[in-house]
Amino acid sequence: MKDCLFCKIIKGEIPSNKVYEDQDILAFYDIEPAAPIHILVIPKKHITSLAHLEKEDEVIIGKIYGVINKIADEKGFKDNGYRVIVNCGKDGGQEVMHLHFHLLAGRQLGEKIV
Ligand code: AMP
Ligand code: ZN
Repeated sequence: MKDCLFCKIIKGEIPSNKVYEDQDILAFYDIEPAAPIHILVIPKKHITSLAHLEKEDEVIIGKIYGVINKIADEKGFKDNGYRVIVNCGKDGGQEVMHLHFHLLAGRQLGEKIV
């Protein structure tokens, strides 16, 4: 989608520090890390938010969790653990309107909300 920051990153119009890529999914380091390891995992298809998910998108969501586990394994933090966060909409604090999964690791994440 035009004027979408993450679509521009997917197209290579804006640089990113890539961690993983396949035909459906891209993962790259967050520019403002909130933990020692902070990776964003996104579908290449423009999906505005979790609230905009269509039935056909559910397969990609499953694949994203598989990619998250693969990254955790390859980067060596699978055993220590990690946190996955999806902010959705205004009250969820979503700033970039292209569905993304925050993958946080590398320290004890203390600020539990739920
Ligand atoms: P959210 O608040 O859930 O929409 O998260 C958006 C995230 O995108 C924030 O953690 C930002 O630091 C991150 N971000 C914004 N611009 C970039 C960029 N150019 N490259 C990597 N991460 C970015
Ligand atoms: Zn987009």
